[in-house]
Amino acid sequence: MPLPQPAATGEDAAARRELALREAVRRRLLDPEDALLAAFVDLDGVAASVADLHRAFPAGVEVLHAFAAKANCLVPLLARLRGLGMGCEVASPGEFAQALAAGFDPARIVFDSPAKTRRELVQALELGAAVNIDNWQELDRVDDLLRAGASASRIGVRVNPQVGAGAIGAMSTATATSKFGITLADEGNAERLVEAFRARPWLTWVHVHVGSQGCPLDLMAEGVAQVVAFAERVNAELGRRQVVGIDLGGGLPVNFADDTTTPTYADYVGRLRAHAPELFDGRYRLATEFGRSLLAKNGFTAAYVEYTKASGGRRIAVTHAGAQVATRTVFMPDTWPLRITAHHPSGAAKEGDDPVPQDVAGPCCFAGDLLARARPLPPLEPGDLVALLDTGAYYATTHFQYNSLPEPAVHGFTVDAGGAVRFEPLRRAQPVEELLRPVG
Ligand SMILES: *Cc1c(COP(=O)(O)O)cnc(C)c1O
Repeated sequence: MPLPQPAATGEDAAARRELALREAVRRRLLDPEDALLAAFVDLDGVAASVADLHRAFPAGVEVLHAFAAKANCLVPLLARLRGLGMGCEVASPGEFAQALAAGFDPARIVFDSPAKTRRELVQALELGAAVNIDNWQELDRVDDLLRAGASASRIGVRVNPQVGAGAIGAMSTATATSKFGITLADEGNAERLVEAFRARPWLTWVHVHVGSQGCPLDLMAEGVAQVVAFAERVNAELGRRQVVGIDLGGGLPVNFADDTTTPTYADYVGRLRAHAPELFDGRYRLATEFGRSLLAKNGFTAAYVEYTKASGGRRIAVTHAGAQVATRTVFMPDTWPLRITAHHPSGAAKEGDDPVPQDVAGPCCFAGDLLARARPLPPLEPGDLVALLDTGAYYATTHFQYNSLPEPAVHGFTVDAGGAVRFEPLRRAQPVEELLRPVG
């Protein structure tokens, strides 16, 4: 299968966004009465990002690249990723059902969750999905279930290497006291875990996910290295190659400051080679679980400006995108700033006018519903559009239902060599009737 070209350059990405925006207005996928807000995913860009990921790993190593469904859980998108050779990482019964609906072979689904119920585990083990066990009690539970019936699942343990936090505490999962996994450095734990492997020949993988966004590559690679060292220790102490696979997790950070993709998957693999060369000598099968880095820069969200006003000297544009689609940005504006571009009602970029500091507000009825404060932008007018960039992961598809605002439509798009845009529905806009369902 020929691989698509490497990810679009910055200018390409901007040009493609504008083409898509103009065509979306022309086709009324954005409409000042009927489609105030919509999200878009650049499907060519996604294919190029997937190709970058595959290319970054050496050909001699067997890797399952599982897309972290929570980053963008839409079934048609997941099906597309399956077609591009991805597996799927899921962390809830809903994501599991979405992955199955998208047609993933259960053997290419990886089930991670810190709160797997007995029934969820039975389903995963019956289907043969990979399972990463989070804690000692879950290990006992899986013991029980395997006594009742064998499973084709490859089963591993999520290990917390306790290498510390990145820049965002809430996104850091390998701190000394993280809620995830079994800690390695706590007194006696590593020994106890070696014995757990000895007693359970079906325990054949180790899993680590150091964090999402904000973790430096060397911190991530160091966490992986500790888990590789643990796998080597298990195999040495047991005198057999019981640990055959290492699941590296996801978490490659995304650059939200401009259109360049940095760091790259190749950068990360370079750091992994430096910290844990054993990963690539062909003795281990590998899995990855990237989410944000595959989708974020391949998506944007567009919304109409409804009104503009001045309040106590503060210039405000009230738009239809707020906390319902940009939850993290609204509640943690310093941690999750987004680039915003201004467009004419036609979708064409507003250029020429001197930028003026403006607050870009959302429609929600609370004062903090702001996408940006004092952001220099060409003066916005009612009927203009704003685009929130790099929102292909964890934005419109992780909706926050405030003020009964409905979920917006999500459209995939491709652009051919002549600049013609084709859309493909990924999710329809939620009709208001759906908010009126009676109890029961
Ligand atoms: C969220 C998560 C991922 C994906 O993280 P990204 O930052 O989106 O790459 C992968 N694995 C696990 C266990 C996760 O919780």
